[in-house]
This record gives sequence, structure tokens and C-alpha cells, in this order.
Amino acid sequence: MGLPIAEQQSEVYEDPLDLIDEIEALKAEKDVKILAHFYVDGDIQDIADYTGDSLKLARDAVSIESSTIVFCGVHFMGESAKILSPEKTVLIPDLLAGCSLAESCQAPELKARQDELRAQGRDIVTVAYINTSAAVKSLCDWIVTSGNAREIIERIPKDQEILFVPDQHLGRYLMEVTGREMILWPGSCMVHEIFSLQDLLRAKKNNPGSAVISHPECPQNILEVSDFIGGTEKMRQYVKSVEQPTTFLVATESAMIHPLQKIAPQHTYLPVPGIMESTGETCACNRCPHMERNTLKKVRDCIKNGTPQIEWLSYFDQAKGVLERSLLKPS
Ligand code: SF4
Repeated sequence: MGLPIAEQQSEVYEDPLDLIDEIEALKAEKDVKILAHFYVDGDIQDIADYTGDSLKLARDAVSIESSTIVFCGVHFMGESAKILSPEKTVLIPDLLAGCSLAESCQAPELKARQDELRAQGRDIVTVAYINTSAAVKSLCDWIVTSGNAREIIERIPKDQEILFVPDQHLGRYLMEVTGREMILWPGSCMVHEIFSLQDLLRAKKNNPGSAVISHPECPQNILEVSDFIGGTEKMRQYVKSVEQPTTFLVATESAMIHPLQKIAPQHTYLPVPGIMESTGETCACNRCPHMERNTLKKVRDCIKNGTPQIEWLSYFDQAKGVLERSLLKPS
């Protein structure tokens, strides 16, 4: 995983400290604020004005007053920021930073599935995880993040069926915690899918007294052996609440260790190993190749050049209503 070899080779080395100075100067000159997801490299999180999970960053994008946002994360996050703050210029360091989970649910297929269920006379409500394209969001009734999914699902009248897209693992976990049956879309995240139960159990054995903390996008067999399950912000709050120095085995994107170390430095954090799909070998491949596309150099370049930016598309209007109702209205 990581950047394609051709792309790595064409990168000219620039001193990270010089890049940081340049970014700081450009931010002030061009009225820019940087938002960074917990899954991007720690050096980018450190220069960001706001860090957080998808829910917090979507809300930050609305409340900040600068005219331009640089969203360091993946494409659907930049889209959500633009939809919620149409008057702002939203730049993203690399347009190719996609998301395997978002790609697993395309708008035409979702529309066909909704039509099929409705043709059977079923009264369905479509709930989408925020990791979806704006085109998919525009077809949905509610948008959730791992931070607010439970609360929104519990609000939906019991006589309606829920079609949950696109993450089957998160969907299954939510069925368990809410007691609601849902029709699940068969999507998953390539990063959370690869964790190896066998290696996790071995790591647990080799680290007596350790605890496993997992993101609900992980498959059920990983969640079943976890001591804590929660999205990135909940994970941060959880490790902060544990006073006794503990070794945590972290089953999510490994850049998450950076904000965990910052908020609760008394603990030790170890990434849970994964299994390489191509060879079946154990590896430390739990970095998201899309998040890794964000680099200091690209952040500098996008502020300097004012591109690439998220352009407003016709279906953003429809997605805006759903996003605002789901993420910005108090419950
Ligand atoms: S970690 Fe998974 S869900 Fe998150 S952006 Fe990467 S591919 Fe998408």
C-alpha cells in the first residue's frame, strides 16, 4: 500500500520543517484553515487548526470563519465540508484520495436496490454511513457517523425497515447495540477488513494485561475479542479515562496512534497486525492508502495554487438537506 512507485520516485525531497514554515505563512496570507482527520500522518495533524473524526470535522467546517478550508482526509470528507459550507472554498491535497468503503456503494446500484425493495411494498428508510459519495447521500434519508449512528437509528419508527449502507460490519454492530434488524449493504473498508484474529490473539498473549480497542468497521471476529469498541473520538476519550498505564492493541488505521499518544501519553499503543491480501502474510498494512496520499508538500501546493478544489454539483442540494438534518440539528 502507500503511494504508487512512480509517484514516490517523482517526489523531490523537501525539508519538512521548511514546508511547515511555508504552510504557516500561506495560511495567514490566504485566510486558510486546515482540517485533518485522525487517520492522516501525524505531521499533518500537528499543523492542522482542527483535528477530529468525520462528525466533528463536518461541524468544524461550518463553524470556522475563514474563506478557505483545506481538508486533509479523503474525497467524501471534502465533499461533505463543501455541501455544509457552500460559500467556502474547499481544497483537498489530492483528488485521488478516495475510500474503498465509499466506492463499494454506487448511486445507480443503491437506487436499483431501493426501487426493488419498494416494488415489494416495503416501507424503507435508507441510512448511510458518512463514508459515501454525495451522489449516494442525495438518495438517503439519514447520514450517520460512528459517533451518532446509534442515536439516529433509535429515532427511526419501528414500523419502518432500515436499509443501511455501505458498511456491513458497522451495520451488524449497530444491529447488536440497538436491537434493530436492518438490511445491510455488503460493503467494507479495506483497512479494517485485513486484521488477523490469530495475530491479534498472539499479540494479546505476548502482552499480558493488554486491552484491545477496535473501530466498529472491523469484522465481527475482531469486535468479539475487543475490550472497547468505538469510533475514533470515542477511542480517544476512552484511553484518556483509563488512569492505569496500559498496553492498548489498536485495531484501526495506525495513524490513530498519534492522537491517542497525545491525549493519553501514559499508555503504550501497538497496532494490530493485518494479513496481506496478495500473499496471505502478516504485515503492518493497516495504513489507509487514500489517507496516505495527504502529504505536507501537497498541502503546501494546494494552498499556494488554490487547487484541487471541490466543485458544487447539482445533486449537492439534495445531499445538503440530509446532511444538515443528520449532523447539525441537535437531537
Ligand atoms: S480507512 Fe477505510 S473507510 Fe477510512 S478512508 Fe480509508 S478506505 Fe475509507
